[in-house]
Amino acid sequence: MALGLEASLGDSVLTTKLDAVINWGREYSLWPFVFGTACCAIEFMSAAASQLDISRWGAEVVRFSPRQADLLLVCGTISYKQAPILKRIYEQMPEPKWVVAMGACASSGGVYDNYCTVQGIDTIIPVDVYISGCPPRPEAVLDALMKIQDKIKGESVLNDRHKDFKGILD
Ligand code: SF4
Repeated sequence: MALGLEASLGDSVLTTKLDAVINWGREYSLWPFVFGTACCAIEFMSAAASQLDISRWGAEVVRFSPRQADLLLVCGTISYKQAPILKRIYEQMPEPKWVVAMGACASSGGVYDNYCTVQGIDTIIPVDVYISGCPPRPEAVLDALMKIQDKIKGESVLNDRHKDFKGILD
């Protein structure tokens, strides 16, 4: 459907304006789902607490169902046993959706360079923003949110951004 629209409308003024309006709405109404498996999840809790006021970025409505979320935050170590679960959760989220790998473990396996730890969640699902650190400070979560918002600004609402992604479970 989206590809058909894109083919017929191309980069017209209409689609450019449509992108701007829809992306503005998406930027300031992100609904996060936290896949927290280890210590980084505690830092996310600080980011979502009142001191930093994550609602300034419109992302305070943390969901407990992936079907209601469009921002997946993976906070912690992911084992190979958990990898299919993470993939299933990602697939249950409706499009459009964005993914943040929070901390060294989610980004690259961190210090757990061993047989049972996924060496970066981008081997399983596509990642939009990586947060470095072990653990990252809560402020780094807000920085990641702003990076996601910048990404959304430059996207076309008609494109399926992740259609070419292939992970080790595909
Ligand atoms: Fe814990 Fe550090 Fe891994 Fe975060 S990056 S989950 S703080 S060990």
